[in-house]
Amino acid sequence: MTQTQDTIETPPRPPSPVNQFGTLAVHAGSPHDPVTGAVIESISLSTTFAQSAVGKPVGLYEYTRSLNPNRDNFEKAIAALEHARFALAFSSGSATTATILQSLAAGSHVISISDVYGGTHRYFTKVAAAHGVQVTFSPNIEVDVAQLIRPNETRLIWIETPSNPTLSLVDIRAVASVAHNHGIHVVVDNTFLSPYVQNPLDHGADIVVHSVTKYINGHSDVLMGAAAFNSPELFDRLSFLQNAIGAVPSPFDCWLAHRGLKTLHLRAREATTNATIVAKTLASSPHVISVNYPGLSTHPQYHITQKQHRNGMGGGMLSFRIHGGKEAAERFCQQTKIFTLAESLGGVESLVEVPGSMTHAGIPREQREAAGVWDDLVRVSCGIEDGEDLRKDILQALEKAVGSSKITNGT
Ligand SMILES: *Cc1c(COP(=O)(O)O)cnc(C)c1O
Repeated sequence: MTQTQDTIETPPRPPSPVNQFGTLAVHAGSPHDPVTGAVIESISLSTTFAQSAVGKPVGLYEYTRSLNPNRDNFEKAIAALEHARFALAFSSGSATTATILQSLAAGSHVISISDVYGGTHRYFTKVAAAHGVQVTFSPNIEVDVAQLIRPNETRLIWIETPSNPTLSLVDIRAVASVAHNHGIHVVVDNTFLSPYVQNPLDHGADIVVHSVTKYINGHSDVLMGAAAFNSPELFDRLSFLQNAIGAVPSPFDCWLAHRGLKTLHLRAREATTNATIVAKTLASSPHVISVNYPGLSTHPQYHITQKQHRNGMGGGMLSFRIHGGKEAAERFCQQTKIFTLAESLGGVESLVEVPGSMTHAGIPREQREAAGVWDDLVRVSCGIEDGEDLRKDILQALEKAVGSSKITNGT
């Protein structure tokens, strides 16, 4: 059979921007191969691309650090899902943060919420200072932001909503309107909700960042990050640094994360359904002191959930305080049979951890407790298993960790 170019009659059709989330997730950045018609892109492992004359590459690509077909397609998909003009992918969420902070001149000042992701806190306090960038942390950014701004020095405000691990929310619009009066950019780390549940750029943020490692890839098998934004100036600066610093993901990781992203809406809905079941189960247990879940109407900032999250969804993450202290928290995590005791989040499998002894152990106790991270706090990432099985697992683990502890376990 002779293949000619016109054997394939339909050229690749990019999805129209009016398409909704699920359609974009499946089709954005996923053109059919114009030569073979392959519906799924191949993995472009080639590090270099032929040129027909000096400085005239055959296609769009020259060298894989600068741009690679798989990264290009993944970035297009992220931009579509975050309602952004541009997206850039990085080798991890942390590399994304580092690249954004590197874009600031020496002498710049940053305001951040207090309970940021531990690795972000570490970068802000231990690395940024070496480049002459100072960070001020605020436990109540909506109220304090105007006072914390230093004229001609503050360049960036860093928000995580929901925060980790206490799941408190920030009104992005409220902070952005103050920031924009002073020409300051607002960054929102949207890792905990994913673009299905929240699109920060629609609420006034200038840059949205993700640890793709979590919900977007969703299968706990890729480490990657991404940033999305609308400003062409930010694109020039950040894409320059993406290439100059070179903290870029591999073509294979881009391909895997793009495959994961195609089912994000299904996984995010299921995770929210499961987290709602788990949150209600915990809230009605006598073994539980309190539950932090933005999807419960009892959450102190439920009005923000309703305004900022798709259909008032709470997402797949929650945390709770257990009766019996640190020991009970640790016993609980060892007694679950479906929830695995492990760090990280956002995968198809459910996880539990004790932030005070694991992800947040680096923060001094007083600071930790001031932020609500008590030793008896357990963080839960709900996966996409059956909700009824998760509910039973939570109940039996609570019973073993607290109910029978006085009899069987004095420690
Ligand atoms: C995991 C995580 C990061 C860091 O991402 P890596 O991909 O692990 O480098 C940043 N922010 C949040 C909220 C995270 O959960």
